Order: sequence, then structure tokens, then C-alpha cells
Amino acid sequence: MEFTALHKWLPNLKHPLVIAGPCSAETREQVLKIGREVAKIEQVKIFRAGIWKPRTRPNNFEGIGEEALGWIKEVKKETGLLTTIEVANAKHVELALKNDIDILWIGARTTVNPFSVQEIADAIKGTNIPVMVKNPINADLALWEGGIERIYQAGIKRIIAIHRGFSTYGETHYRNKPIWKIPMELKRRNPTLPIVCDPSHICGKRDLVGTICQRALDIDMDGMMVETHHDPDNAWSDAAQQVTPSVLADITKKLSLKTEYSTNKNFEEKLNGLRKQIDEVDGDILDALKRRMDVVEQIGTAKVKSNVTALQVSRMGDLLAKRMERGEKLGLTERYVKEIYQVIHDESVRKQTQIMKDSKSK
Ligand code: PEP
Ligand code: MN
Repeated sequence: MEFTALHKWLPNLKHPLVIAGPCSAETREQVLKIGREVAKIEQVKIFRAGIWKPRTRPNNFEGIGEEALGWIKEVKKETGLLTTIEVANAKHVELALKNDIDILWIGARTTVNPFSVQEIADAIKGTNIPVMVKNPINADLALWEGGIERIYQAGIKRIIAIHRGFSTYGETHYRNKPIWKIPMELKRRNPTLPIVCDPSHICGKRDLVGTICQRALDIDMDGMMVETHHDPDNAWSDAAQQVTPSVLADITKKLSLKTEYSTNKNFEEKLNGLRKQIDEVDGDILDALKRRMDVVEQIGTAKVKSNVTALQVSRMGDLLAKRMERGEKLGLTERYVKEIYQVIHDESVRKQTQIMKDSKSK
């Protein structure tokens, strides 16, 4: 799959891309207040708000629904931010499109279900609307990639994958455990796919959000989706994990960017220096092996003269024990030294056997 690069479709993109807004749209005032505040943060380019909320248990606030679409439209008009909402079925897609939502996102509980993802893919065919695909709640890379493929096959090239962590049983440090190697493998398989992190659903608690944002940038992710609320403690959903717009501004200011040039250049220089050292050490090793082999040949010739066998088991045992003892003092494992000397000794015996054979045929 070949995806459209973020800077080609997000105007004035400033790395990292930050997507901000409340877990849920609650009231018109709340949506507008948060929209206005996050718009002041330079990196924020997309405003998010959930209007249909997939709650774990019934009888909780399940989202405002259609009415909130008008409020989000107002944020877009007033701030110029792009807007995104979660869609879980064809009806949601239809309403989002009708209300000029710019980007759709597929939630973790939807990505797990290929029927739902396909229903969404069929509903967006021919529209060219960008779609963000969160990882499924379970740690299944194929299912995540499969969801992305369904959207891609509907003709969408502007796709962003979102790592929001994976559900685990029992109490853990995180609400949804991040398994960084999974988005990294997704990236390895799809180098052009932009990937952002959702620290809010990973952490479940607001004090960890900044750390996870930094972690995401350290592995070269493209940005983050951060749940932001002007009064997090009184949010109608996910109260513990939302941060205020001013905390978000602070987090983005403190991020250290491991960008292309300077860091990479230092890294390259350092790597080249270390590789040169490895080349030199390897040259020394090969020279030493050659010197050793010359001595082995001399021993072989001497053995022929005195009619002694090439393999002397006791010598081999003695040599190995000594080398392993020395290796251990140097901090090299027994297994490593043993394997190396087995290969070296085998080759020495082979060489001496050859010398003996040659002397007989003379
Ligand atoms: C959300 O972003 O509000 C949400 C419901 O997230 P997730 O699908 O990752 O649980
Ligand atoms: Mn949420």
C-alpha cells in the first residue's frame, strides 16, 4: 500500500501533528471553548470530539449524537481547524459527510470487527475522505492492517494509523498497554503509512500523557491524539485521562524532537566511528587466526615426524577449559567461547589430518 504523506494533505503541518479535543462533545459551549483554546497551540491541526460513544457498560453517557455535528462545524468555521469524529457504521458516515466533517476515525472497538470496518469502507467509497484507524483492542497486527486495507481498497490513500494501546486483563500500570513493536512492525511493512499515538487511552491517567507523547516521538511516530477538556475532572466520559488545553500546550512545548538532521547526523557519525573500530578489530582477529593456523601447520608437520595423531583429546579438553576461564574473566560467556574454540579446534584437526594424508601420499 502507498499512502499520501501527511504534509501533502494537512496544510501548514508542523511536526508533530497534534489532534486535540474532548473525549465527548457535551454541550455547544464546551465544544466551542475547547476548540478555541486548542486552536491556539501551533501543532494542533485537527479537532476531535466523540459524538457516539462506545461505552464498556450500558447506562453511561453514550454521546450527544447528531446534534453535536453542528457544534463541531462551528469550531471548524471559527478556528479553521480540521475536524474529526468517530464513526462505527454506515449511518454515522453518512451524517459525518453531510455535516462536512473532514476526517473520520474508526475506534478500537470497531477495528476488531471486519463486518463493521467493511460497512464503513463501503459507505465511504468514492468520497476520498481521510480516515484514521485505531488499533483493535487486542494485540493483533493482522487485524489492524486488515482494517487499514479495507479502507485503502475503498480508494482512500489518506490514512493514519493510531496506536492507542491494547487491552489486558487485570490491573496494570496502563489503561491500555502500549506494545511499541506492533506499530513499529506496521511501519516496517508500510513505510509510507503515517502513525500517531493516542497517549490518553494508553495511560488512562493524565499525569502519564506527556511521557507517552515523548516515547511516541522517540520511535519516530508522526504525532499524537490527546483528549483535551477545559474541565477534565467534570468531563462526562474519560475524566481521569483528559488534560486541559494549557497542559497540552506545555506538553507540546517540552517535547524533544528527534528530527531528521542534526540528531541523525550525530548518530551517523558516531555509528561510522564505531563501525571503523569493528573493522579494525575484525582485521586483528583474522590476522591472529592466520598466525594461529601457521603454528598449527608446524605442529602438524612435527606430529608426522613423531607419528602422533592429529586429534589429541586431552589437549582439546585442556585448551577449552583454559580459554573459557580466560573468557569468563573478560566477561565473555562460556557458551560463546566454547562455540568459537570448537570451530577453531575442528579446523586445526582437519588441517593436521590433511598434512598427514599428504605426507603419506608423498
Ligand atoms: C476515543 O478516542 O474516545 C475512543 C473511544 O477511543 P478508543 O476507540 O481508542 O477506545
Ligand atoms: Mn475517550
